Amino acid sequence: MPMPTKTHPIVVLTGAGISKESGLDTFRDKDGIWSKVNVEDVATFTGFQRDPDQVHAFYNARRRTLKESGIEPNPAHFALARLEREWPGGVLLVTQNIDDLHERAGSTQVLHMHGELNKIRCLDCDSPFVWERDLEISTLCPDCGRPGVLRPHVVWFGEVPLDMEEIMEALSGCGLFISIGTSGSVYPAAGFVNSVRRIGMAHTIELNLEPSDAATMFAETRYGPASALVPAFVEEILAG
Ligand SMILES: [Zn+2]
Repeated sequence: MPMPTKTHPIVVLTGAGISKESGLDTFRDKDGIWSKVNVEDVATFTGFQRDPDQVHAFYNARRRTLKESGIEPNPAHFALARLEREWPGGVLLVTQNIDDLHERAGSTQVLHMHGELNKIRCLDCDSPFVWERDLEISTLCPDCGRPGVLRPHVVWFGEVPLDMEEIMEALSGCGLFISIGTSGSVYPAAGFVNSVRRIGMAHTIELNLEPSDAATMFAETRYGPASALVPAFVEEILAG
């Protein structure tokens, strides 16, 4: 498929690789966060019911790291924000990351399919709201006023990713699908390239440190650090 013209919408998928270059620990790498904790304890609803204190402590620590340890967006995040501003056909950014680095870089059309560290939601009221502090069992829900009903707004193992309908619709209508810094092994995101190709309209490209598990499905692949590859690619397509 040829590169799209500037009237075609673009869908960008980003994964842990783009945040890792900002200094954030990944979850799934060999030495990542999931290798140091028991996933069932801190990232399942059953674990939350069993020991909410432990779950809150885990996400409070992640939230503090994101806020206080000097983590900043890198040139890849900024390049994607520029693409959104300058691409006439529109850009939807779908991220597997729960950090806020895309927003801090200036992207506004962002869907966090695995949730957001800086949001929490009430088990009763269900609508998520911004929360940048520690969360405790005793914290009262600002809406219904009950204690013990707030949980991190992140998608745990066994839960359904967010915004899937909107994502699938965007994939079906895009002219270019760019996958950045993903392992290509976590579904449903790993299957997005297939969804795009089945419809057959869009160019597909993988920008990654190394070939992902889904690499052979892409029409084009480029390998290297996202902070170098992504600004160069954005410059290239904006130049036409
Ligand atoms: Zn509530």
